[in-house]
Amino acid sequence: MKVVSSSDWRDDLAFESPTLVADVSPGEATRCSVCGGDSEPLERTELWAVKHKHPKQHGGYVRFYCQTHLPAIKVAPVAAPTRAAAARAERRIIAPRRPTSVEDRPRAVCPDCWVEVPSTGICGICGNTIA
Ligand SMILES: [Zn+2]
Ligand SMILES: [Zn+2]
Repeated sequence: MKVVSSSDWRDDLAFESPTLVADVSPGEATRCSVCGGDSEPLERTELWAVKHKHPKQHGGYVRFYCQTHLPAIKVAPVAAPTRAAAARAERRIIAPRRPTSVEDRPRAVCPDCWVEVPSTGICGICGNTIA
């Protein structure tokens, strides 16, 4: 049997699209993350793996769900754009790009305070004049 490091198949999962656990991580019966530790383990052919976005971890996180607890995600996710994608697109329209002409100029940074020095050249924290 091929041994796969536990992170590999998770990396390959698409976000928010249920995948049969038996297809990606075959093995012993395991539990639905909603049913919890007291539940009967289920065959992996009856569990779905879903990768969720995580606010801090770029790779997201994967949870297993039984058929009952599978979140309301279309099992055929290709059809319509997900709500998350729609929200992303919306945000892109609402948030205007900041004009960058001024921001592009590199600012001097005070070597003691590590803050940007305003155009006066005087550090707002320690008062040093920065060349
Ligand atoms: Zn469950
Ligand atoms: Zn300073």
